[in-house]
Amino acid sequence: MLTLKPQPADTRFPLRSHCCYCSMQCGIEVSPDAAGTGWEIKPSSDFPVATGRLCQKGFNAMGHVLHPDRLSVPLGRERKPDGHLPERLNPFTWDEALDEIASKLKTLRKLHGPDSVAVFGGGSLTNEMSYLLGKFARVALGTRYIDYNGRYCMSSAAAAQHLAFGIDRGLNFPLDEIPRAKYIILAGTNIAECQPTMMPYLLAAKKQGAVIVTIDPRNTMTSKIADIHIRLQPGFDSVLVNSLLHVILEEKLYDAKFVETRTNGLEEVRGAVKDFPPDVVERYTGIPEEVIRVVARGFAKAETGIVLTARGLEQQINGVEHALNYMNLCLLTGKIGRPGCGYGAVTGQANGQGGREHGQKADQLPGYRSIEDPAAREYVAGVWGVDPASLPGKGVSAYELFQKMESGEIKALIVLGSNPVVSSPNANRVLAAMQKLELCVVVDLFETETAACADWLLPGSSFLETEGTLTNLEGRVFHRPRVFAKPPGGLEDYEIICGLAERLGAGELFRYADNEEIFRELCLATKGGKADYSGMTYERLQQEKGLFWPCPSPEHEGTPRMFGQSFHHPDGRAKLHGIRPGKPAETTDSSYPYLLTTGRVGSHYLSGTQTRRTEGLMKKSPVPVAEIHPSLAEKIKLRPDDRIRVVSRRGNAVFACKITSEIHPTTIFVPFHWGGEQSVNLLTSDALHPISRMPEFKIAAVRVERFPPEAATVPAAAASAATALKPAPAAAAATGHAQS
Ligand code: SF4
Repeated sequence: MLTLKPQPADTRFPLRSHCCYCSMQCGIEVSPDAAGTGWEIKPSSDFPVATGRLCQKGFNAMGHVLHPDRLSVPLGRERKPDGHLPERLNPFTWDEALDEIASKLKTLRKLHGPDSVAVFGGGSLTNEMSYLLGKFARVALGTRYIDYNGRYCMSSAAAAQHLAFGIDRGLNFPLDEIPRAKYIILAGTNIAECQPTMMPYLLAAKKQGAVIVTIDPRNTMTSKIADIHIRLQPGFDSVLVNSLLHVILEEKLYDAKFVETRTNGLEEVRGAVKDFPPDVVERYTGIPEEVIRVVARGFAKAETGIVLTARGLEQQINGVEHALNYMNLCLLTGKIGRPGCGYGAVTGQANGQGGREHGQKADQLPGYRSIEDPAAREYVAGVWGVDPASLPGKGVSAYELFQKMESGEIKALIVLGSNPVVSSPNANRVLAAMQKLELCVVVDLFETETAACADWLLPGSSFLETEGTLTNLEGRVFHRPRVFAKPPGGLEDYEIICGLAERLGAGELFRYADNEEIFRELCLATKGGKADYSGMTYERLQQEKGLFWPCPSPEHEGTPRMFGQSFHHPDGRAKLHGIRPGKPAETTDSSYPYLLTTGRVGSHYLSGTQTRRTEGLMKKSPVPVAEIHPSLAEKIKLRPDDRIRVVSRRGNAVFACKITSEIHPTTIFVPFHWGGEQSVNLLTSDALHPISRMPEFKIAAVRVERFPPEAATVPAAAASAATALKPAPAAAAATGHAQS
């Protein structure tokens, strides 16, 4: 157990930083608490994104930083001759650990080639670390196999934005333009729980007369502020949007001038939507024809309008098409590139935006350049001081990395800032694949579920013990200062990676004095790319409270709103896409008659590595609570205090449950922040979108049984699992999730 006594980086309190959780990246102020024995966090008024506001996670962001289970020294264990890992991890010095890891990596590369090693990064890493990981994989390891957990988050919307606009920035307008919108559609996004401090922007719009429409299988906290809530079964998103477009085209409500001068593909859309009149779509979806007409007319006729989407519709094997169809809606109605208008994919992770721009994605070089573009390879290789021909080609997506571990092609994995055993779909398969590795290195703050597969577990830096830049959901790049000095004897994440590079023989290309030096190189590497940071410096980011990319020169003011004059396709036009809705990978049948969908709760973040170690948050949401419709509860004869067992084709798990008529009758919702037996990803589908390679987290065919089935017949093991899962009565009441 570690006793943490962090040393402040400065004694002029409060020390400013940013919350480590969602993509809002609210400003925080850290000071000694009133008793002088600990630390407290307050909202900062200094950062223009969520001035003076924090949500429950932000106020509790110190919880995991000071947690006694934080790793403090490198830990390792030697595999048994049969390849199994002993349970016990032993402490090592940094030199011992890095020497051993590098030696094993060299051996594996010699025996099986550089592609036998893979790297798995994360969307909460700073831009500097995202960049460094990409360079480390391609230059020091020479492997094509690097990807990150953002693949599970933003890849569908990112692919769609590239197809429609020629460039991908989550929001193509700043948040402070939301109050200027007169019509706002929120599709598959639960902002009230996922980005709570964004709600005041929506409320300000509402106060100024905006109509808000939410589209979701659940009547979420966000939909409570909506004028219209459309409770849509997962998977029908493009069917619904086709009907909206049908009305807009049929009634000639589209912006003919904008479409003619700024877009291509109108006839493609016209052809695709002709079979989706609202009366037909009402029969498919149960959404009343009149509601479809009201929303279509309302959005098209409004002077200004914004569409925001998120994972609800993107984490599907048709997710790119769903996102494209919402872009069609903005483009056809001319609601993009001017004040109060635009499309936005609401990023989930802290640095979900920057994390996908600088090279930790399988097909990418810094600046959102393609690794298959010869000119991009030549330019970036020049910045790195290597031969362009030495750079490997495109790798595979996050989930496909595990498939390659399963087949034995990948034999070593380095994981930084991610917990894929919990966050990947079909989690049992992922765990089994990782257990086949010959070397697994995990850099994290804690002994995570993924670390159970690790030969080496290296202590990472918390967000307060390092500095760097992140890019929030708007595309605003900002500097996050250091609050605490790094722990004595510790290494920052970049020093770990550079230490390995040194031992792998690439040291001269990985010598940085600090994170700022990495940022300077990153900016140079992005010059001329789509996400051009080359006009930025730490000093500018601090003085100007962030800059929106692209920012291609020191004189450039940044680009808060995009597409005012042109889009990023070679002809400057956006591309409309006719969408022919496809089926999900799994449809219901008599054995699996319901649809499982997953999502977040306000108290937790991603796989829960940090928030499940934060007392104040665990009190609010101690266990995952499934939401089911009363008709389903009645059908399975659910009794008071029962839980439910949810069974998919890949696994089953038992959950506490809440009966609520706020959810679509065919759908069950389970949050995804827990591991082990409580992991909903034991059940989720690993079908991948053909372009984005996004897994279909949001749709799995399942059956639901009450648990225990009959008290007298419960096996002892199941009874003990049930006890472990059952929330304490007080905790359950505190969550508001007590079984109804
Ligand atoms: Fe702000 Fe998001 Fe942190 Fe909440 S979780 S305080 S909304 S950055």
